[in-house]
Amino acid sequence: MKNEIQKILRKWEGNLRRNGSMDATRFSQVSNEIDSYIRTSKNTQVARLLTSCRDSTLSASPNNDKILRNVRHALFLLQKEINDEKRELGFDVDLGQRQRYEAISKKLYSEKLRFKGNKSLREADVTLMEGRDSRKVRRIVEKRMCQEYHRQNKHRSSYRCSGKARHEMDRAVSYQIFNLGQLDGHANQRGIGTHWKKIVDYSSGEYVMKKKVEYATLEEAQLHIELYKFAHPKDKRPMHAYYCEHCGHYHIGHDRGTETAA
Ligand SMILES: [Zn+2]
Repeated sequence: MKNEIQKILRKWEGNLRRNGSMDATRFSQVSNEIDSYIRTSKNTQVARLLTSCRDSTLSASPNNDKILRNVRHALFLLQKEINDEKRELGFDVDLGQRQRYEAISKKLYSEKLRFKGNKSLREADVTLMEGRDSRKVRRIVEKRMCQEYHRQNKHRSSYRCSGKARHEMDRAVSYQIFNLGQLDGHANQRGIGTHWKKIVDYSSGEYVMKKKVEYATLEEAQLHIELYKFAHPKDKRPMHAYYCEHCGHYHIGHDRGTETAA
């Protein structure tokens, strides 16, 4: 039931995002499923969001921005519920790349790049390096991460020739490429609204500068502000998206003067 609702909501999200409106005829095809979910579900929050979506879709002049917001919120809550249930049953919920690859990350953090005059690998930011250097760093990371994935999963019977293994390796590489790109010892020089954020390095426990997530367009960055707000409902500080001259992409951050030590 939850999975069907999730599928429907994903389709709605795509329609609203691309066309700015929801196809009313498509809505009537799934209205039975939506209604029965609203009647029977114990997740009252999702049911309330769905009721709101259904009612506004059927109204004479639907507010599509609001519907899109509610659809995304409902999707987020549903995924959370599904993950919680899996965890209770003892299934392997997506651990998060950080926990899964913590050991190899620590190893990579101590590696030096010989071709760059012994610069630390952890300072390498492939989006800002020259093509040849960036390709070299990518190759190094790719090799290490694929070996690590192989080491962790070779005992599984489903491991060989599976598309999932290839997908997970790609994912591991992307994660590590993003995870690198950290500057040590400059944390106090960070201005507000830059390419970096200030975080505690989990291997050394010290403040470091870490590159922010890069978004290709302003719209994409604004979408991620919304997603951030769903994930952190207690964080009421206003946020904005901005263009970064350092890398030519967009980042998101809290507004000036509202940053706290937490
Ligand atoms: Zn940037």
